[in-house]
Amino acid sequence: MINRIPLGEPTGPNVASRGFRPRDGRQQNLALVIQALYDNPGLSRADLARLTGLTRVTISDIVAELLADGLLVETGASDKVRPGKRATKLQVAADSRAILAVDISGETTLVGAVYSLGGEVLHRSSRPLSKSDAALSELRGLLGELVAAAESPILGVGIGTPGTVEGSVVTAANLDWHFLDLAKSLAAVTHAPIEVENDANVAALAERRFAGGEDDLIRIQISRGVGSGLLLGGVAITGSSGAAGEIGHVVIEHNGTPCSCGKRGCLETWISVPALSGRIESDPDGREETLAEAGRRLGMALSPIIGMLDLVDVVVGGPAELVAGPFLEAAQDLVRERIGIESRRPVQLRQSTLGDDAVLLGAAALVLRNQLGVY
Ligand SMILES: [Zn+2]
Repeated sequence: MINRIPLGEPTGPNVASRGFRPRDGRQQNLALVIQALYDNPGLSRADLARLTGLTRVTISDIVAELLADGLLVETGASDKVRPGKRATKLQVAADSRAILAVDISGETTLVGAVYSLGGEVLHRSSRPLSKSDAALSELRGLLGELVAAAESPILGVGIGTPGTVEGSVVTAANLDWHFLDLAKSLAAVTHAPIEVENDANVAALAERRFAGGEDDLIRIQISRGVGSGLLLGGVAITGSSGAAGEIGHVVIEHNGTPCSCGKRGCLETWISVPALSGRIESDPDGREETLAEAGRRLGMALSPIIGMLDLVDVVVGGPAELVAGPFLEAAQDLVRERIGIESRRPVQLRQSTLGDDAVLLGAAALVLRNQLGVY
């Protein structure tokens, strides 16, 4: 029965869409039911019919199939009082499948975890990360460990990687990976579907799925460089060359500090962790003002994007001692000042609550999306 999953298939390179491109209406209906129960555990078959607009007969049929697959469980009688037979509550069986997630975005450490369908960590592991072929073999080793640790059938493997991703082909200069087909390279380790996506994009998925983010959301990650992931209507935008969200090398200062990319005055020369820490170290007394100025630089880069796309939810990940406080406040003030109009909801810039796990959780969210249609 298990082999009937996956329900969807990965989409083309341009839009890492909801991932679920139904081959027929039935698959779409399966996804509708799973999504409804994922978001609202305890619904009855009648509730599902009302919520999805599908007929009672169709719902009964789909629920029977998902119960047989073990993806759903019945959890007793509904509390709602209705004439006739008491309805049975249903929910997604969180432990019925394992999701394996890997985060390759760390500078020197590879992190992996086994998650339940509900996003609960069941096993966690990390190991040193090198470059090139060595990195690939370390990744194989970690994935092998996760496969062995999974106690339920594996729904899929999600990988958040730096660099550009087209399908499962990764080009990441810092890992010395050039047009490396990751799914193919890892196929010997597991038969489960392998989903690969840029680290910043999966982190944005994690904010929405596991941290209450909006359907339209931008997530900035401040680390050694600066990256961002963009969701519009819940769909991750990857761009025409897989490089959407590469905001770090947008110039925000004419004739500014030279950048590693060859230009001058890129956003990274102000707000990457090394750049910002360096500016603070050179003037410890002016720390607050330096952070505020860096925040305003981020605001300058973001304002046209936020204004044009009518975004209100902007999440910033990175070290709390830099991000929280004057940096975020100044960025938010500047954005509001530049784009505010009466009819618009005010923009909120907020610190991510996911800490170091944003990419890992996002890799899990990628699998949920692509394999179950839960986005
Ligand atoms: Zn640059």
